[in-house]
Amino acid sequence: MMKKDHVEKAGKKNKMDCIFCKMAKGEIPTEKVYETDSVFAIKDINPQAPTHLLLIPKTHYKTLMEIEDKEVLGEVLASVKEIAKKLGFAESGFRTVINTGKGGGQIVFHLHVHILSGKEMSEEMA
Ligand code: AMP
Ligand code: ZN
Repeated sequence: MMKKDHVEKAGKKNKMDCIFCKMAKGEIPTEKVYETDSVFAIKDINPQAPTHLLLIPKTHYKTLMEIEDKEVLGEVLASVKEIAKKLGFAESGFRTVINTGKGGGQIVFHLHVHILSGKEMSEEMA
């Protein structure tokens, strides 16, 4: 199945095989809904809400735990705010999720932030 293939491919741990790195470099054609020099955002292939975006730093960090640079951390969150403003869901609200490691449900080992909006989120988180 197309969707599963994508996720399996995306789950490869080797940086050379990393689907988000390939998207960042333009090696795989991808609709980027937002882009700066250091980050980009795409629509999640398997959306869990009417709006489900992935904010992805162009540099390959396997997980949140791999980032040492506080400036990069700040930039990632600042980008989430920018996207919310630019794409028009800052007012209505949104949920931000970062899955970290296998126990955190991470499948794609290139750091990304899920941004979910367009419906009332459940109070339950997990
Ligand atoms: P995570 O569990 O945080 O690692 O989530 C990985 C997310 O990436 C899942 O929500 C997938 O649906 C999404 N995903 C995987 N491959 C692609 C792709 N090619 N394009 C867009 N989203 C993808
Ligand atoms: Zn990568």
